[in-house]
Amino acid sequence: MSRIAVIQKEKCNPLGCGNFLCIRVCPVNKMGKECIVEEGKKPKINEELCTGCGICQNRCPFEAISIINLPSELDKPPIHLYGKNGFHLYSLPTPIFGKVVGIVGVNGIGKSTAIKILAGVLEPNLGKLDNKEVDYKELIDYFKGTEAQVFFEKVKNKQIKISYKPQHVDLIPKQIKGKVKDLLKKVDEKKEMGRVVKELEIENILDNDVTKISGGELQRVAIAATVLKKANLYIFDEPSSYLDIKQRLKIAQFIKSLVRDDVSIVVIEHDLIVMDYMADLIHIMYGKEGCYGVVSQLKAAKAGINSYLDGFIREDNIRFRDHKIKFEVKPPVKRGKENVLTSWDVMSKKMGKFKLETTEGNIQRNETVGIIGENGIGKTSFVKLLAGVEKPDKGEIDEKIVVSYKPQQLEADSDELVMSVLHDAIKSHTKDLINPLNIKSLYMKKLSQLSGGELQRVAIALALSKKCDLYLLDEPSAYLDVEQRLIISKIIRNVAEITGRSILVVDHDLLFIDYLSDRLIVFEGEPAVHGVEKGPFSMEDGMNSLLTDVAITLRRDEESGRPRINKPSSIKDREQKEKNKYYYG
Ligand code: SF4
Ligand code: SF4
Repeated sequence: MSRIAVIQKEKCNPLGCGNFLCIRVCPVNKMGKECIVEEGKKPKINEELCTGCGICQNRCPFEAISIINLPSELDKPPIHLYGKNGFHLYSLPTPIFGKVVGIVGVNGIGKSTAIKILAGVLEPNLGKLDNKEVDYKELIDYFKGTEAQVFFEKVKNKQIKISYKPQHVDLIPKQIKGKVKDLLKKVDEKKEMGRVVKELEIENILDNDVTKISGGELQRVAIAATVLKKANLYIFDEPSSYLDIKQRLKIAQFIKSLVRDDVSIVVIEHDLIVMDYMADLIHIMYGKEGCYGVVSQLKAAKAGINSYLDGFIREDNIRFRDHKIKFEVKPPVKRGKENVLTSWDVMSKKMGKFKLETTEGNIQRNETVGIIGENGIGKTSFVKLLAGVEKPDKGEIDEKIVVSYKPQQLEADSDELVMSVLHDAIKSHTKDLINPLNIKSLYMKKLSQLSGGELQRVAIALALSKKCDLYLLDEPSAYLDVEQRLIISKIIRNVAEITGRSILVVDHDLLFIDYLSDRLIVFEGEPAVHGVEKGPFSMEDGMNSLLTDVAITLRRDEESGRPRINKPSSIKDREQKEKNKYYYG
């Protein structure tokens, strides 16, 4: 077993720990050797002398040190090392011509580094820090006999042209100004703008300024700009963020349709239903955020996603999560008048030009209800009515219940420390919320310093730690990576089981909703004009109404029980459509 020592320099604060605590506690140093030394005002660990006792890691108050015992399978040097005691990346994803290759894994474990190397933008150092340039020949030798060898030979011969859709589309308006159509015309090397804008349904916003369009529109503009460029390797980094369920399914179909024999597509995606549908092959990436990342061998998409849900990669003998995610049939919720927690009449509410209407409905005690529908169709407004944040113009809602509400838009302009915001949660929910949501390292940060994903985790912990009758969670999966989504699904299920309280979850991640929900509320109508809330329905009826609309059928995977999209016109797809069973519960 090999060992690496990583120091996250941005976390290390030698003054804050009382002057290099790690150097003072290291037993090897105490024996007179120089295992940890000071270099450039930060500590440096000599991995050859380190015994792996872990004392420095445990004593560092800022969690800046990680001593990691790597599995023996990783006996090769890393592909890239960011300096002494820096981030290690092991292996690389392999683009395959004629296929969509998906990458599934947590954030912060080297996906961007890997992409830069694939694109030829970053020259990997193969773990050597002697500043000598690594010859591409060495890289080709590293991958000898694999598909990656073929790919890097092409990179070396400058035969790869890459087009990349970045992860953070929200940054685009900060860099590019002007009308959407001018932006797209500029990059339209293939002269296919007309067809692409139609397929991505962005014709109506062509005259809008890039700074004035929504996140979902920006995402589709960025995807259009990527595919209009002439390239033979297209990389899409999180193409489903900001998109609603319908748009996600359409984007998945669109990206899949780009495959040609001489074109390779690589997709990084956290929505597993979308990923499963798009990808032919999957790499799992695992490791420790900020410390190291490992790219698994390629697997067929189905096996790759099942392996991800299992938390175990058999071929590499790696367990990267201590529990499996299983899609089990949920026990039926006791229904009936006596079990109703809250109910509402036919209601309506006008907000500017938008009108929301509801049918009659109720939430039962001890049930989790998923809410699905397009963007701008009134889901959040409905949740606000239930939470008592807004009052209906017509109709009534039983308001006698106490609601704990996590809004969709998270306000982060406060200088309050996470520790003080979560004071009560820290006192009584360390085991069930704080630890699994990995919030301890955020205690001393101000809310205004948190990233979108960090803020989301804090907001979920805050909402779920309150005593109430009903939890309302509006888009809890936004900004979270796949692993965090799976952890949060498990937390929400546990809270529902342990407290017996009811939970309402609005989300666009269908796998997440399927895993959690006992029943479904579905929204129909015309975005930004009017929305109609319907339900709650049984899962089958609710899903059927959504899927009929997008002409997609779902089946259950025999092994994991997770829902999978049927290939259009496949036998299963046709059979299910004939029977009007778009969803198999
Ligand atoms: Fe102090 Fe931790 Fe930095 Fe060592 S790594 S100097 S213990 S803050
Ligand atoms: Fe020293 Fe132990 Fe830390 Fe290694 S793990 S650097 S031996 S304290």
